[in-house]
Amino acid sequence: MPEICAEYIWIDGTKPTPQLRSKTKILTFGETPPIWSFDGSSTNQATGNNSDCVLNPVFICPDPIRGDDNILVLNEVLNTDMTPHETNTRVQASKIAEKYKTHESLFGIEQEYTLLDPFTNAPIGFPEEGFPEPQGPYYCSTGASWIFGREMVEEHLEMCLDAGLTISGINAEVMPGQWEFQIGPIGTLEVSDHLWIARWLLFRIGEMHGIQPSLDPKPVSGDWNGAGAHTNFSTKTMRENYQAIIDGCEALSETHKLHIKNYGEGNERRLTGLHETQSIDQFTYAVSDRGASIRIPWQVVADKKGYLEDRRPSANMDPYVVTRLIVETVCSDLPQ
Ligand code: ADP
Ligand code: MN
Ligand code: MN
Ligand code: MN
Repeated sequence: MPEICAEYIWIDGTKPTPQLRSKTKILTFGETPPIWSFDGSSTNQATGNNSDCVLNPVFICPDPIRGDDNILVLNEVLNTDMTPHETNTRVQASKIAEKYKTHESLFGIEQEYTLLDPFTNAPIGFPEEGFPEPQGPYYCSTGASWIFGREMVEEHLEMCLDAGLTISGINAEVMPGQWEFQIGPIGTLEVSDHLWIARWLLFRIGEMHGIQPSLDPKPVSGDWNGAGAHTNFSTKTMRENYQAIIDGCEALSETHKLHIKNYGEGNERRLTGLHETQSIDQFTYAVSDRGASIRIPWQVVADKKGYLEDRRPSANMDPYVVTRLIVETVCSDLPQ
């Protein structure tokens, strides 16, 4: 029987922001990826004297890096008694997705990120000393004076497509070296699984280019845009009726603090009220307003139906947590 490589990927226990880890298991072609284990004492998930943690496969896709029949296997982490590990945020997201499945929630997540030089930790495109030309020309631009890292970004897009992920676009962002890709619109659990794999591919492809991607919410302080993960959300009712979108915004206005607490570490450096953000301690929603916490796109007003954009989550947020909270907040107010 031919052998294949299965790259087992999981989310670790690094604080404050978890990192992705992976290792390779050889399987025979056609074999269902079994549970596996790892040394949790090396990933901030266990102590040395009781170090075993369990990898439980939850999502499988083609491996676009190794190609052929090789696969990527995303895992949730369990304890050895098969209960969810405390770092396993997927299990709760899965329960909530199931509980509110009749609402047919859809998510589209805009993942912003910054490409760094791994030796200087400065964004690529920043000079050795001082700063580049101020923001203005970079967003969605073309030209070697403004665009840095496109080759890697294009490769990432191609690999996401080859992996079968639901990726809906890419664009150059407002700061040099800063980019975005969008996953969705797909369901609550799927969007998070796809986003974690897309993040892993980004870091993995960065290795081949000598570039370290960063999901830090504010990689350069001062007059430079931070990096967010705008989370676009709709229920079946919102896709049919504008009032349901307003009701969703109103529901979100009541749980602002809870959401902010769970929308990414260091987000206070980004949500300042400047650079297309609302301040962290204020909640507003408005049409077309990139300074609001929630934006309702103009097209949604024109169509009188569609979705809302939660602009608060930071680039390093955990999508299992963010999508679960949005579904819980918005759908618990609606009739079942
Ligand atoms: P912008 O940069 O203008 O904020 P983008 O085009 O980057 O917007 O992202 C919009 C996102 O909205 C896309 O990821 C898309 O998949 C998502 N989206 C579109 N329609 C819906 C919908 N009905 N429900 C949830 N998400 C949606
Ligand atoms: Mn966008
Ligand atoms: Mn953006
Ligand atoms: Mn956006």
